[in-house]
Amino acid sequence: MPIDFAPSAESAEITQRTEAFVRDVVIPEEQATGGVPGPAGGLGDDLRARLQDGAKAAGVFAPHAPVDVGGHGLGMSDRASVFEAAGYSLLGPLALNIAAPDEGNVHLLAEVANPEQRERYLAPLASGATRSCFAMTEPAPGAGSDPAALASTATRVDGGWRIDGRKWFITGADGAGFAIVMARTSGSAGDRGGATMFLVDADNPGMQVGRHIDTLDQTFFGGHCEVTFEDCRVGDDAILGALDQGFRYAQVRLAPARLTHCMRWLGIARRAQDIAVARAAERELFGSALAELGMAQAMIADNEIDIAAARGLIVRSCWELDQGRSGAQSSAIAKTFCAEATWRVVDRSLQLCGALGVSGDALLSRYLREVRPFRIYDGPSETHRWAIARRVVRRHRDDR
Ligand SMILES: Cc1cc2nc3c(=O)[nH]c(=O)nc-3n(C[C@H](O)[C@H](O)[C@H](O)COP(=O)(O)OP(=O)(O)OC[C@H]3O[C@@H](n4cnc5c(N)ncnc54)[C@H](O)[C@@H]3O)c2cc1C
Repeated sequence: MPIDFAPSAESAEITQRTEAFVRDVVIPEEQATGGVPGPAGGLGDDLRARLQDGAKAAGVFAPHAPVDVGGHGLGMSDRASVFEAAGYSLLGPLALNIAAPDEGNVHLLAEVANPEQRERYLAPLASGATRSCFAMTEPAPGAGSDPAALASTATRVDGGWRIDGRKWFITGADGAGFAIVMARTSGSAGDRGGATMFLVDADNPGMQVGRHIDTLDQTFFGGHCEVTFEDCRVGDDAILGALDQGFRYAQVRLAPARLTHCMRWLGIARRAQDIAVARAAERELFGSALAELGMAQAMIADNEIDIAAARGLIVRSCWELDQGRSGAQSSAIAKTFCAEATWRVVDRSLQLCGALGVSGDALLSRYLREVRPFRIYDGPSETHRWAIARRVVRRHRDDR
């Protein structure tokens, strides 16, 4: 089958508008705040609303959301360049309403929600009227790299379900209007099936958002929180999709969400490279511009190679998803490479800038802290390498 990676005319237009919007509106806000939007329920809410109003006025808001809920309805391949353009600033994804976890949740709800759930949860999420979180990970020995360790339970009770469990690292939980919660409806920890996704409103008295976990990164809106479910009562209408199919739906969310993370962080890698190149072209050292010195040139070239390779892997995997293929292997490869390549690019860029690089003045040290956790969330590099190798060996055995 011929492979066509060319973006549609609509995607190219939205990308151009996004680049202009990020340059003129978002980057000044990033420079004023150091890229950290501020707390939910405080100044952060004002900044989010201001940026999102700006994105709506610029015609670039919600490029991924279905058209019937006010989005542009772009497929995976068409998202790539738009998300990368938004990711050129730490605040760009928040402005376009394509930051994690809302962006992945919009995708999941668009695929799985029934008409009532679309109206109640998807529409306000797509418009930015509300935020959401995705509650899967649990403190050890619960779900982490191995989702089958899921320990939270949902037990049948009169009129619905009772959810009990402890989650942590739940991004955006503070101030979210609702959570998509993974809980076990059959089997026990270690079983590969038996999970169900539930939509839980944040005002449910059985759901408590606890402390913000202090982390290396600080730009995700609403923080990374502990969330407790205790005698949390929901009706049957809270089930997202079908009973016991939660792990299958997690895959619906995970492959695209991995790739959109790659797209956004690729934007930051490109930004870091641009900052470093501008500096290296100007800085005089040992009788020439830094950019004329061989070891600096090697870093600039390696950055360019990492960026180009990452982009190639993203568009290849997006193309597979748009063809209706699973993209499991290609998205794992892209995710592993991008998470490590963006780290390398930001690290080299920081090195090229010397002391300026580690200062708060150049934003590079903030970027370095933001990209590091990407090697852990959406599957640590080791989990992906393990899964990639297993598929390769299985293919070898099947071919024999
Ligand atoms: C910033 C951030 C935001 C997050 N946001 C969310 C969120 O919104 N919702 C949510 O549900 N979760 C979220 N998470 C949790 C994230 O999904 C988990 O951290 C991730 O799945 C890894 O699980 P774990 O932390 O329990 O590590 P563990 O499962 O304990 O793994 C520890 C380490 O084991 C190694 N490892 C894993 N698999 C293998 C293997 N096959 N072979 C060899 N070594 C291996 C890796 O080095 C890994 O880092 C977030 C995490 C971070 C850091």
